[in-house]
Amino acid sequence: MKVDRFEISRYSIPLLHPLSDATHGVIRDFALVTVLVRTRDGLEGVGYTYTVGSTGGGAIASLIAEDLAPIVVGQDPRAVSSLSQSMWRATHYVGRGGPASFAISAVDIALWDIKAKAVGEPLWRLLGGRDPKVPAYASGIDLNSSIPELEQSARIHRERGFRAIKMKVGKPRLVEDILRVEAIRELLGPDAPLMVDANMKWGVHEALRASRALAEYDVYWLEEPIAPGDTEGYVRIQREGPVPIAAGENLRTVGEFEKMISVGAVAFPEPDATNCGGVTAWTKVSNLAEARNLPVTSHGAQDLHVSLLAAAPNPSYLEIHGFELGPYLEHSLPIAGGYATASERPGHGIEFRWGELRPHLVE
Ligand SMILES: [Mg+2]
Repeated sequence: MKVDRFEISRYSIPLLHPLSDATHGVIRDFALVTVLVRTRDGLEGVGYTYTVGSTGGGAIASLIAEDLAPIVVGQDPRAVSSLSQSMWRATHYVGRGGPASFAISAVDIALWDIKAKAVGEPLWRLLGGRDPKVPAYASGIDLNSSIPELEQSARIHRERGFRAIKMKVGKPRLVEDILRVEAIRELLGPDAPLMVDANMKWGVHEALRASRALAEYDVYWLEEPIAPGDTEGYVRIQREGPVPIAAGENLRTVGEFEKMISVGAVAFPEPDATNCGGVTAWTKVSNLAEARNLPVTSHGAQDLHVSLLAAAPNPSYLEIHGFELGPYLEHSLPIAGGYATASERPGHGIEFRWGELRPHLVE
């Protein structure tokens, strides 16, 4: 089996409603880069990655076309571990993160899709999973929402069957965050997991102050309180603050996760397979977490991560993120009773509706 050719496309996907967080302000669209990897005998792997706004989409598409496709074309796609290493080495000097990590992720995801299709198995089963059902949480990108709007969203999430909900924090004054969290905790009752996400808004001291105030509302995790490079700061917040820390959407290599996990900087590692190196890297992070007796969770890309969490022996909640691909997919992710279910189709089961995507193509 040999890879024959690549087909790379870049889209700008408008959001149905503008979203907001403490780093990006108002978000109106996201960039989607897709890659189809085809083999000479007719198998096709689907890979993709995404970024906020249009940032980096062009660089990612160009890295795939110019630097990664020549490494993979002519090779056996099932040798994905070795091809992954070749891609990391080839982009090392300009990479070790940034757009190179996104580009490698998209190709790696397509290769794993082919590998699973080649044996006729769903990806989660190929990776060792037993049960395709994964607990999921509804993730709000809602820093600009009013308290009544937050409450309305929480009610809708509950009607859809979600028990666990995440909301943004990082308002100009901590007291505003606390009032918002208090309102949602009251609405959800004492038992439902409630996560909060600060999107790197604070420094260590502000984060510790927030952690102590949030603990009163039994917050399940505090996500990205500070910038991702400050590992020592994370250790302090994790050790001295009462709320467990989640982080990972801005870590771009397995090495960065290894550092965070090994020094006890994070309680809920949150890799995103579309930006840390694909299924290969996500699984390595999951294994590192398990070795430290930690759960693993996910960021974004729920249609893919459902399969990876279903394969992990240490899964936490799957994030159901606001960058929805549902309208552009042949099969939307089944979610019921607070659980998402990975597909039984061979591969990861994600098939794009190319005709629906076409109006958003960036030439
Ligand atoms: Mg986040």
